[in-house]
Amino acid sequence: MNIRADDFVLEIGSGHNPNVRSDVLCDKFIDDDEQRGGMIVKDRPMVEADGQFLPFADGAFDYVICLHVLEHVEDADLLLSEMMRVASRGYIETPSEIGERIYGWHYHNWVVNLIKGRLVLKENEKKAEFGQLFHTLAAQDKYWRKFHIMHHNLFLVQYEWEEKIDYEILDPEKSTLDLTSPQTIEDLLASKASNQIHDEFLLTLKSAVPRSIVSRAKSLLAKSRSRPTKTLKEILVCPKCKGGVRWKDENILCNICEGIYPIVD
Ligand SMILES: [Zn+2]
Ligand SMILES: [Zn+2]
Repeated sequence: MNIRADDFVLEIGSGHNPNVRSDVLCDKFIDDDEQRGGMIVKDRPMVEADGQFLPFADGAFDYVICLHVLEHVEDADLLLSEMMRVASRGYIETPSEIGERIYGWHYHNWVVNLIKGRLVLKENEKKAEFGQLFHTLAAQDKYWRKFHIMHHNLFLVQYEWEEKIDYEILDPEKSTLDLTSPQTIEDLLASKASNQIHDEFLLTLKSAVPRSIVSRAKSLLAKSRSRPTKTLKEILVCPKCKGGVRWKDENILCNICEGIYPIVD
């Protein structure tokens, strides 16, 4: 991720493992840890919001991080346009079509590919061709895990954007990935080859160090940064109508549609 030293950064779907560089965290499910790998992290300003209805002013951020959220939303157009509205640059990561076909997650609404620098989405048909086979292998089999790590890029879409997210939503019957084409195969295998060592290192690190220590170290790192920053008061708007808001006692009130949003802590 090409985040600059003085960038003001939002993370959507920050969950239990936010990026060290994220200044403001945003998650839709603050109280429900069920679909996460651990307890939610709230060591920075945190806003409970849906990525499709962000409560931030236009251009409030320089950079927005959005990992494994896009494939879950109902309206992908809305999430993508909201990200472009609140930030000028960003990074999006999702499972790839290969990952989706091999593992299959019934709660993913979208299958995503990166084709010639453009995000191409289509509705997830949720066929789960291999059932639980590869989930079980990933949990139990070191050779499959090794293969996954070595070919991490095959299973992921990693897309960084500036000014505009280049994307397209396809008709469900259209095929996105032509795996009979030697060029497609070459592109799939060539992308991000340099990330492999890094990924493997990270995975070893993750398994060797308890999660709580990793997240505590990351929290300390996040706190130790001192840069000019904005407060939530300066950037919050109404998620529904994007109108200005006022802070009153325990609540934030919309000046236009009269929406009421509680302040916690
Ligand atoms: Zn997901
Ligand atoms: Zn409003």
